[in-house]
Amino acid sequence: MNGTFVGMPAFPDAAREAVGDPVLRANLRHATHTIRAKRARAVAELADWEELRRAGKQIKDLALRDLDRHLLRLEQAVTAAGGTVHWAEDAAEANRIVTELVKATGETEVVKVKSMATQETGLNEALEAEGIRAYETDLAELIVQLGEDRPSHILVPAIHRNRGEIRDIFRNRMGDWGRPAPDGLSDSPAELAEAARLHLREKFLRAKVGISGANFMVAETGTLVVVESEGNGRMCLTLPETLISVVGIEKTVPTWQDLEVFLQTLPRSSTAERMNPYTSMWTGTTDGDGPRDFHLVLLDNGRTAALADDIGRQVLRCIRCSACLNVCPVYERAGGHAYGSVYPGPIGAVLTPQLRGTTSGIDASLPYASSLCGACYEVCPVAIDIPEVLVHLRERVTEAGDKGQRLEKAAVRAAGWLLDRPTALAAAERLASATRGLHPRRVPGWVPGAGPWSESRDLPEPPAESFRAWWKKNRT
Ligand code: SF4
Repeated sequence: MNGTFVGMPAFPDAAREAVGDPVLRANLRHATHTIRAKRARAVAELADWEELRRAGKQIKDLALRDLDRHLLRLEQAVTAAGGTVHWAEDAAEANRIVTELVKATGETEVVKVKSMATQETGLNEALEAEGIRAYETDLAELIVQLGEDRPSHILVPAIHRNRGEIRDIFRNRMGDWGRPAPDGLSDSPAELAEAARLHLREKFLRAKVGISGANFMVAETGTLVVVESEGNGRMCLTLPETLISVVGIEKTVPTWQDLEVFLQTLPRSSTAERMNPYTSMWTGTTDGDGPRDFHLVLLDNGRTAALADDIGRQVLRCIRCSACLNVCPVYERAGGHAYGSVYPGPIGAVLTPQLRGTTSGIDASLPYASSLCGACYEVCPVAIDIPEVLVHLRERVTEAGDKGQRLEKAAVRAAGWLLDRPTALAAAERLASATRGLHPRRVPGWVPGAGPWSESRDLPEPPAESFRAWWKKNRT
């Protein structure tokens, strides 16, 4: 497996391979069903869940409405607390800033706490090109990195791997990256966790530079927040001398009090925990405690364009809990790699095409990677109406129109013409009923664009009598 998403085929092609892999499907089914059931129980414990959900939506909407003002306030607060703020318009600029900052320290190694923003920008590859090695320290990210794999889930990037596969990756690859796996390593979770702990500890104690993301940034105080379950993130945030945080601009909330809502909804939605085990918060630098140098890189990379879209902007409310992935019937079967992005599942299907545009095959296919069942909307703790955004993006893709979509448009135009003419419609219905025995059950393969659609669908059989004819006979 190639470690980057560059050059991925469109979703239907990539998904076909995943759907045909029984081990992958079993791993995914087991993991998503387990997390989904636990989440439902954790959420049911709170009588005010719907109020929290509404509050989360409102806080994020207000934050996004005045994002420019909050970002300037954030910059002021971070600077006043001894940090330095950098603005990155796109991935290349963010990578350049971080690479220069690391080079200025004279170091050639960095430790990273899981950061989706740096995966989005391809930072590890950019650092490697400059001779700097980045070590992932989140357990699941470590598995992905050692296996030269791609992440396939927001919260559990190695969800597609089972314990036996992880044991093999540790046995075969740990030695290439540092401390090797202990002899006779089994696939018991305790032994695997211990092997990772020893491997990573060596890196934490040696690293002088840490790179992180953040779940939230509080504008009024300049505080960054990382929420995690393992404690590896906290080691990354506190032990190095220099800390560089790369964060999407939409992670800003105006006040400290806003965290009250998200620190309740995020853990229950993501890991089904009442409270997440490690919440690390830091504000600039403090003498004698933690990193001496702190840099915040604020990443746009398409977010301002998403903000300008009335319907699409709601995806920027996302707090990356991954609940929508765990309930999605499409994700469960296709897996995360098929989405061709670090953001898979329902949120990826609406976020990626907004961040990257819809000109490539993979990005244009993503708004269609959904059954529109609405399960994602039901579980989203900030009430993002993902189906609404999917339909909105489909419209955008169709407007841009390739050959297949032009045919779809022509078919809809023909239907519109017929539905506007009651006499012609009645004649067509009579003809369809009279010839019903002759109609094929599938769209013939020679109809352009219909092949894949009709592979899994039967055409509806015309009724023996149209509703109009029945009405005339029985009601008039
Ligand atoms: S869209 Fe909603 S459910 Fe999905 S990851 Fe984001 S916050 Fe969670």
